[in-house]
Amino acid sequence: MAEIKLSEMRDLTRIERIGAHSHIRGLGLDSVLEPRVSSEGMVGQTSARKAAGVIVKMVQEGKIAGRAVLLAGQPGTGKTAIAMGMAKSLGQETPFAMLAGSELFSLEMSKTEALMQAFRKAIGVRIKEETEVIEGEVVEIQIDRPAVAGAASKTGKLTLKTTEMETVYDLGGKMIEALGKEKVQSGDVIAIDKASGKITKLGRSFSRSRDYDAMGPQTKFVQCPDGELQKRKEVVHCVTLHEIDVINSRTQGFLALFTGDTGEIRAEVREQIDTKVAEWREEGKAEIVPGVLFIDEVHMLDIECFSFLNRALENDMAPILVVATNRGITTIRGTNYKSPHGIPIDFLDRLLIISTQPYTEEEIRKILDIRCQEEDVEMSEDAKVLLTKIGTDTSLRYAINLITSASLACQKRKGKIVEMEDISRVYQLFYDVKRSTQYLMEYQSQYMFSEVSVGEGDED
Ligand code: ATP
Repeated sequence: MAEIKLSEMRDLTRIERIGAHSHIRGLGLDSVLEPRVSSEGMVGQTSARKAAGVIVKMVQEGKIAGRAVLLAGQPGTGKTAIAMGMAKSLGQETPFAMLAGSELFSLEMSKTEALMQAFRKAIGVRIKEETEVIEGEVVEIQIDRPAVAGAASKTGKLTLKTTEMETVYDLGGKMIEALGKEKVQSGDVIAIDKASGKITKLGRSFSRSRDYDAMGPQTKFVQCPDGELQKRKEVVHCVTLHEIDVINSRTQGFLALFTGDTGEIRAEVREQIDTKVAEWREEGKAEIVPGVLFIDEVHMLDIECFSFLNRALENDMAPILVVATNRGITTIRGTNYKSPHGIPIDFLDRLLIISTQPYTEEEIRKILDIRCQEEDVEMSEDAKVLLTKIGTDTSLRYAINLITSASLACQKRKGKIVEMEDISRVYQLFYDVKRSTQYLMEYQSQYMFSEVSVGEGDED
């Protein structure tokens, strides 16, 4: 029984999950930021993509902080897809944090604390560390075997000759392991990284002609270095301010980084970290990498969150804030006032607004094509035409969702290619919003707590 479970588990981990935006690999722009019609999984929406590209460029140059951008448009017009495209084009080193407005409202931490953590997840710190590397010829290695057989630790001494001096190093367990791995013997030229204790074998010294004769001409020789023997090497670590916060927060400890259960972080911890980072910046040891914070469903934020954002953006380390909404004129949460997108006017005034437009039939067809490829579904030309028609009449998202279910319907009838019959079968099985509303209108009397009177809602 246990064995069966194990093999099932292995099968599960082998399956790669295909997310709603897994086909997006970038913004699909050329080197001068002009959008290609269809590239990197992105189709159409050219002006919005171009604008997003300009923002990415600003972030990459790292000179601008605290700008805010609003992606506004109807549902399913690719706002989240564009934000994903931005994250992909920023590259690995630039931090990108993402959350939905609704995620801020939890019992575990206050909404402003959650926003603060999100902000600090989007601020990177590049810490530069200098380490010393010493290169030289091994004169002697002496390893003390532990007295008790099988005891783990070994110690020893390594005498290394550079052109200037002969130095004796105390060997620890890791260094001995490294020497063994590299098969270091006396006469070898090695490099020791003083900070990490890493040992690399560079070759053999010419100074030992006996070795040269013994090893033959194929062996690659490295002359004992006589120039600069102590090199300085720069190691760069990239972390986010949030990671530094969590590691230094005594109540949480670094393990919280893996569980995500960070709880609230005390203001004093953050202040200390900010002072330390400011010192490092002054000494040239660290630099700030402002990233991108993306907040989807921004209309879910309330007036307190907006005033927090207003203040947070004033900070010189602030990331670029990208928010998105599909709402029109609506109530600002926490007030009785209405405003465009449910965003207070003073915050709206800070935003550069990028609007997304509904897709043409041709664009819907292209996006569906890309999704079929992504989901590994083969579909006949007729079926694609029908699915595109459904996408235009209902919504792009509904049509995308039908791909997987149509492919299952096809498998069930033991077919290889999804045909029109599979599409119409799943179209009948799963309702889109319009048909579902119509159904509710017709049968509302049979549901509980129905509040719509007969005849109301007909306009839809
Ligand atoms: P909502 O307002 O409902 O949150 P949205 O504007 O964020 O919607 P998305 O979720 O980005 O819409 O788009 C719906 C689906 O269509 C996603 O799977 C997305 O990846 C895909 N999509 C949208 N626009 C494009 C595009 N231009 N190119 C390729 N795929 C797209």
